[in-house]
Amino acid sequence: METKEYIEYVLERVEEYSPGETEFYQAVEEVLLSLEPILEREPKYMRQNILERIVVPERSMIFRVCWVDDAGIVQTNFGYRVQFNSAIGPYKGGLRFHPSVNLGIVKFLGFEQIFKNSLTGLQIGGGKGGSNFDPKGKSDNEVMSFCQAFMAELYRHIGETKDVPAGDIGVGAREIGYLYGQYKKITGSFEGVLTGKGINWGGSRGRTEATGYGSVYFAQNYLEKSNLNLEGMRCTISGSGNVAIYTIEKLKYLDAIPVTCSDSRGTIYHEKGIDVKTLKAIKEVDRKSLKEYAKLHPDAVYTPLDAYPEGRNAVWDIPCDIAFPSATQNELNLEDAKVLVGNGCKLVNEGANMPSTPEAIAYFQEHGVLFGPAKAANAGGVAVSQLEMSQNAGMERWTFAEVDAKLHQIMQDIFSTAYEASVEFGKEGDMLTGANIAGFKKVADSMIDQGAI
Ligand code: NDP
Repeated sequence: METKEYIEYVLERVEEYSPGETEFYQAVEEVLLSLEPILEREPKYMRQNILERIVVPERSMIFRVCWVDDAGIVQTNFGYRVQFNSAIGPYKGGLRFHPSVNLGIVKFLGFEQIFKNSLTGLQIGGGKGGSNFDPKGKSDNEVMSFCQAFMAELYRHIGETKDVPAGDIGVGAREIGYLYGQYKKITGSFEGVLTGKGINWGGSRGRTEATGYGSVYFAQNYLEKSNLNLEGMRCTISGSGNVAIYTIEKLKYLDAIPVTCSDSRGTIYHEKGIDVKTLKAIKEVDRKSLKEYAKLHPDAVYTPLDAYPEGRNAVWDIPCDIAFPSATQNELNLEDAKVLVGNGCKLVNEGANMPSTPEAIAYFQEHGVLFGPAKAANAGGVAVSQLEMSQNAGMERWTFAEVDAKLHQIMQDIFSTAYEASVEFGKEGDMLTGANIAGFKKVADSMIDQGAI
């Protein structure tokens, strides 16, 4: 079989056995199509049928989560954990609590995680989990009740050398706390089974900031390679959660000008630069809508989502030098890409997982826009999660400066690894191909070493 034929064959199989899992198929297609050069060069991967193996999770769990709301009514949600690949280390990847979560979403995120984790250079395999539970609008008591019920099932599948979940959309410090408390109560074991823990009980300094700061460090490396500089660059950011907030914070620190943020209800455009203190108070403390931001800063413009044309994102209409999509998947489409290119955008740096549609990515590449793919650009979060695991295992506590220095180095290494792979396989500067190939190689070689398991 020719390489192209082999890739097509595996893609057809994926479509066949995962009907309706569109995001999963999208993620698989993006990776597999970019692997052609390495499959051509190294026939062993086809001989060992690595592609057919790597697209199937080692294990997927779906479970019922029943919990009691404040009105005394029993509510039912779905829980998921997909343990995708453990060739290079224990499964590692976050938990997402959002009404849109289903098996296909968890599989797409878990699949991406395999290559992202490999790219960090650390010993971590790929996994992901979550629930269609929506923490928004729930009381603390309800969130705790849900988290305890979720962990009452999840605990049997995880462990500090087996599978170590973390946060993602809808799962922050509060949720990790309730989940950890329940794990400890059931097992009687105080161990590093989750990351993103509180500093007082085993968390790592710098984990909260890691994904956002890491995304900016990646952008810095990329700009430098292209003889550009972050200073004075106008940046548009989508989202106003963990990734977006710390991307904005680091951009301001480095004298760039982050001018937007958004949530599921609307967008803020603040021409003189987003005020991080206000943003944190609204989103991290009060958990309110961004509408509040415009009340406190009358020179900022708030555009509600429902006042905008369907399928468009107000963030991408604001002229910028760099775009940081940092909210959710497929939030930046071809039409948005055309506007960004028309406005002279130089770099798109993905903070969220798979935020750009394939058509948008192709458009950026055709028009010479630098493109930092999620699995490289947002890998800082999982990298510091692994540093949290190391600290837990060694009973150590590192300072913020130590962790930040390591994060800095890891992001630089990720950039170099992906860049060098792009050069080696004749696609210089194509970071998507470079990241996929570099991430794949280490996992595929390890799978071969470990035999048909
Ligand atoms: P948070 O829950 O902290 O924030 C998510 C933000 O995106 C919120 O502002 C939320 O709005 C908005 N949002 C979520 N879903 C939608 C949607 N369907 N439409 C519009 N806006 C939406 O999540 P994170 O910041 O942790 O995660 C953001 C992205 O980054 C995700 O893709 C995640 O997978 C990825 N990521 C996160 C990492 C981490 O360490 N946290 C690591 C690597 C990747 P609202 O406030 O209204 O809910």
